[in-house]
Amino acid sequence: MSVLGQLEPKKVYYYFEQICNIPHGSGNLDGISSYLASFAKDRGLFHIRDASNNVIIIKEATAGYESAEPIILQGHMDMVAVKKNDCDINLEKDPLRIKTEGDFIFAEGTSLGGDDGIAVAYILAVLDSEDIAHPRIEAVITTDEEVGMEGATAIDLSMLKAKRMLNIDSEEEGILLTSCAGGMRMDCHIPVTRETDLDGIFLKVCAGGLLGGHSGTEINKEHTNAIKLLAVTLQQIWQKIPFRLVEICGGEKDNAIPREASAVVCLPEGQKDAFVCELNRIEKEEKNEKRSKEKNLFIRCEEVRTTLSSVFDNGSTENILSFLVLLPNGVMAMSADIDGLVETSLNVGILKTFDNEVVASSAIRSAIETAKHKVGLQVDVLAKVFGGYTETHGEYPGWQFDPDSKLRADMVRIYKEMFGKDVKVEALHAGLECGIMIAKIPGLDCVSFGPDIFDIHTTEERLSISSASRMWDYLLEILRNC
Ligand SMILES: [Zn+2]
Repeated sequence: MSVLGQLEPKKVYYYFEQICNIPHGSGNLDGISSYLASFAKDRGLFHIRDASNNVIIIKEATAGYESAEPIILQGHMDMVAVKKNDCDINLEKDPLRIKTEGDFIFAEGTSLGGDDGIAVAYILAVLDSEDIAHPRIEAVITTDEEVGMEGATAIDLSMLKAKRMLNIDSEEEGILLTSCAGGMRMDCHIPVTRETDLDGIFLKVCAGGLLGGHSGTEINKEHTNAIKLLAVTLQQIWQKIPFRLVEICGGEKDNAIPREASAVVCLPEGQKDAFVCELNRIEKEEKNEKRSKEKNLFIRCEEVRTTLSSVFDNGSTENILSFLVLLPNGVMAMSADIDGLVETSLNVGILKTFDNEVVASSAIRSAIETAKHKVGLQVDVLAKVFGGYTETHGEYPGWQFDPDSKLRADMVRIYKEMFGKDVKVEALHAGLECGIMIAKIPGLDCVSFGPDIFDIHTTEERLSISSASRMWDYLLEILRNC
């Protein structure tokens, strides 16, 4: 029984429903990938399915468009598959229970995968059509975008002819994305020396109550980083009251601004009152400094018993605190091309203490590759000054704004003609697959767009039917007219 059968355009919603019937959470893509390959085979379209389950499908230009420039239509086949606690769907095996209500399509009890199922549905509807005018279409449907853009990283695009690409993975109608940040994770390993003759009392110090947020898209809000707050607090106290660090930790993910951090310190008997007094003074100062933003900020301590049998020596305590105070964090540069866009940033996301070292993991982002590497250099030099070293993981390239993009100019014009208003041209300070594609096809002219989808990656995800229909019309006009 079709749920979306009454909706127009029929083919778009037919394929969207088909996709919802095939489980396709990241990492579970054999089924959807083989569906896409069979789709192409059944229609006699040239296609490639690679070892990463990526699928490329080619459809030649329609009559009259043989000399038009080919175009890549791109989206990702995987979704963030999450469900409510009381939902009995097996996301590995069962179809989604899609429903409509008013203008929305959603899935009962689970995420919908409108991100990025709607792109796949659009692409299949174009490939399946006989009456849509278009240039040569090179459809690129990637895997595991949601878990580090792994499909896009692995895919071979050398057989493609197109030098322009429509990425259909934005979730707000009326906005064209024209730049995204590249990123990398950098781990700083700073050595510590321990000693075992510990006399004194142990205090656990916590900094928290902070707003946090996404380390890319929300770094411009300048929310307080708990790891930095804790380090600056302890450094100030350390200058007055000699204590030793036992451990210092914070954050959970390198792509989230840490909301909480804590340390265990060992200080001489009789110094507790002075320590607490300093801590309270600093908390008051910090609350005042950030009063309009971080309303629930706290810095607290309590006496603890510790089973640990060693503390950092004096030099290591000083080294770690100094390193953390100096470690860059937050917005590093704003874009000169797009108002209000963060161009380069760094987020110290995770801090961990081990026997012989403290490790701080940061996410560095920039729309400009060289700027990203310069921040990396700064962090690397700093680690070395403190006797440590760095390791880089998960690097992916950015997408620098192209002031001369013809595709963007055409799409801006067509939007105005169709909808009678200006489309916004924006950039994202986070990763999109476009950066990876551009690195593989130098000079690739890209724009990212898509219909309204709300609360993506959650069980409240819903796709606007009217918006999806409008953006479909927009897509057809782009294929016909640019
Ligand atoms: Zn997506």
